[in-house]
Amino acid sequence: MTAEKTTTVVIGAGHAGLAASHFLSGRSIDHVVLERGEVGNSWRTERWDSLRLLTPSWQTRLPGLGYDGPDPDGYMGVPELTEFLDRFAKVARAPVRTGVNVTSVRRGDAGYRVTTSDGEVLATTVVIASGACNKAAVPAVSDGLPGDVRQLTPFDYRDPSQLPDGGVLVVGASATGVQLAAEIQRSGRPVVLSVGEHVRLPRAYRGRDVLWWMDAAGVWDQGHDEIDDLKRARNLPSPQLAGVPSTLDLNALADLGVEIVGRLAMVRDGQALFSGGLRNALSLADLKMNRLLGTFDEWAAARGYDGAGPERFEPTRVPKSPRLRLDLTSGEIRTVVWATGFRPDYGWLDVPVTDEKGRLRHDGGVVDSPGLYALALPVLRRRKSTFIYGIEDDARAVTSHLARYVGAPGAGAV
Ligand SMILES: Cc1cc2nc3c(=O)[nH]c(=O)nc-3n(C[C@H](O)[C@H](O)[C@H](O)COP(=O)(O)OP(=O)(O)OC[C@H]3O[C@@H](n4cnc5c(N)ncnc54)[C@H](O)[C@@H]3O)c2cc1C
Repeated sequence: MTAEKTTTVVIGAGHAGLAASHFLSGRSIDHVVLERGEVGNSWRTERWDSLRLLTPSWQTRLPGLGYDGPDPDGYMGVPELTEFLDRFAKVARAPVRTGVNVTSVRRGDAGYRVTTSDGEVLATTVVIASGACNKAAVPAVSDGLPGDVRQLTPFDYRDPSQLPDGGVLVVGASATGVQLAAEIQRSGRPVVLSVGEHVRLPRAYRGRDVLWWMDAAGVWDQGHDEIDDLKRARNLPSPQLAGVPSTLDLNALADLGVEIVGRLAMVRDGQALFSGGLRNALSLADLKMNRLLGTFDEWAAARGYDGAGPERFEPTRVPKSPRLRLDLTSGEIRTVVWATGFRPDYGWLDVPVTDEKGRLRHDGGVVDSPGLYALALPVLRRRKSTFIYGIEDDARAVTSHLARYVGAPGAGAV
């Protein structure tokens, strides 16, 4: 059987793959978008039921398509978002082939040989838009948990009714961890939340959504080449935000009755041992939040912002004597939820372009192999790169490099 040929294969029909397709079509570059599930598959199959975007709806926009519903300051649920992605795929006339799993990408004579569940495609270029969050990053200490404690990742979790009655240890206090901790605590299961390095943010500041400030003050537009410690920026945890109008920080969780403990350091003989550095982790997060609010204030002063004046928030309350040890054999904790982050899965990528931690080696989305590109990875080109609203600038830049590489008319040379 002869393999099909095309200029570009885009892997994945999430918002990033669809945005890439939009710009490729605009440049008349022939391409296909290969998707193992449906458009927006990660949202349809890998998210919990109550999830609402933490970005306000006015910020959910893709090239040429913005939110036009009745509540721009609200936060979309998953059904609304997948409907939005379907609409974008239609408007962009993206040549998506659903139900096609990419099982291998290898270098070939004139580009890449893409093997799929539906045959082979030879492509001059490949855009990897397969997502940054394909797998849950579960720490190795999970191996030491007693067998009768149920372990879940955010991929397995749908709603609290799945969990046995009894206590729940949520490990990780970034966006996912704080959201799940609140929901599980409200279901009547007492939650212990293990907190390491985290990013504290208020939901609103000086009368506006905090993400409005990130945008207006140019924080999200900061480029990868302007950031001193790019490696660190790419590993920053997600902010403690939820798609609700109120702040969901550790004080709010403590008010709900969630018990705050330090970072999970190890599990030994059925005992979970937590770091004694909780106070430092809390004060560092407060300090960084206040520094960021200071940046917003400077911007506001320079622009003559006429909304509400500067605010400062109650410091995170340090628990009196946080537990340093939790006996996982006592029956107090019936479930552990690993909200310890996500990572991409490049198991199908047979080109040597990943580092020792499995991350793609790339410069602003131009991967370390000619004709190979990536989108929507953390701080790919800007701080906003993984957010839906951040894709437009990145997809435009990456596809314009690709157009020069393939010598598309009017694109110039790479
Ligand atoms: C829990 C969570 C909450 C988030 N909340 C927000 C938010 O509120 N606002 C915001 O802007 N961003 C949010 N994000 C970040 C980001 O928008 C999402 O991660 C988004 O799904 C990334 O889009 P993407 O197109 O890069 O990847 P994905 O949406 O993951 O799309 C990748 C696609 O590639 C497909 N695929 C993967 N491997 C293969 C293969 N081998 N063959 C064929 N197809 C393949 C997948 O099925 C999937 O459809 C959140 C992320 C997570 C994990």
